[in-house]
Amino acid sequence: MSDLPPLPPVKLGYTDNDLDRMSAKRGDDIWLTATFADPRARLYVFAGETPILRRNGDRGDPLFTAAEAAAFGEPIETAFLGLANGAPRYARLVKELVKPDPNAYRIAEITVDDPTLLITDMRTIAMQGVVEPHHLGPMAEGKALMHWHASHRHCGRCGGVTEAKQAGWRRDCPSCGAQNFPRTDPVVIMLPVDGDRCLMGRQRRFPPGMYSALAGFLEPGETVADAVRREIMEEAGIKVGRVGYLFDQPWPYPASLMIGCHAEALSRDIEIDTEELEDARWFTREECWQILTRQHPERLSCPPPLAIAHHLIRSFVNGGLRLSPDGF
Ligand SMILES: [Zn+2]
Repeated sequence: MSDLPPLPPVKLGYTDNDLDRMSAKRGDDIWLTATFADPRARLYVFAGETPILRRNGDRGDPLFTAAEAAAFGEPIETAFLGLANGAPRYARLVKELVKPDPNAYRIAEITVDDPTLLITDMRTIAMQGVVEPHHLGPMAEGKALMHWHASHRHCGRCGGVTEAKQAGWRRDCPSCGAQNFPRTDPVVIMLPVDGDRCLMGRQRRFPPGMYSALAGFLEPGETVADAVRREIMEEAGIKVGRVGYLFDQPWPYPASLMIGCHAEALSRDIEIDTEELEDARWFTREECWQILTRQHPERLSCPPPLAIAHHLIRSFVNGGLRLSPDGF
């Protein structure tokens, strides 16, 4: 496996979150009031799904004081995210400035009246390094949490209007007493491997020439390995044996956890589900190395280091199929 030149290390996106969430303090109203009044307190503000940034040269600063954040209108919700080296950090949801297209791979920067602000979608912020990298983890936390607040205004049991509690980490229904907690939706994302080859697919919405790992939502009653086997069979018609968990990643579109795996392919003939995929094919380790280093003769590409798929492909290039030590 040492025949290909080594790949330099790259960072996976959204996984660095240094906030101390102080979850034991979420019910302590006296502590919360004092914390919000701390002069070091700052807010990440989301207009619907879109973060608001203050323009700072070519970059954006995502932190606002409470007084500055008030300028973006009546808060729909404010939640305590945690302490950054002792400095309180919050997420705030305000009214949407634009309606983002959830199917767009990338949404261009939109124009707003205030030239001191930079309004662009979260994917662009992360892909283009618009904010300092240490903000991405807390922003993913805040964006997913604000999405949950926006979409759980009413009780799922009785339809009553719910209210935020526990510093924004629970919504209670005064009508029936139901307590609702923030949702995270697990997604399995995986690379089927057959010896020196791995399988990647492309969806129609991908940029031209881009291939990626296969992915799908975990269903109720499934283990991670079961979901990996089912999704690969459904999307590519490949039978899978053992599965290896490698790493995971918060993915705030809108509130997922990507669970990255390698999978041992037991069959070779691809039969794609054309509803899900436009194409799927086997790639040798050398081809994957060419894709990662942007030297593929057909100019094929894969997702950037921000995304977990990139790291699943890198792990295959560096060490072939990776399986969990005890297997599942
Ligand atoms: Zn209720």
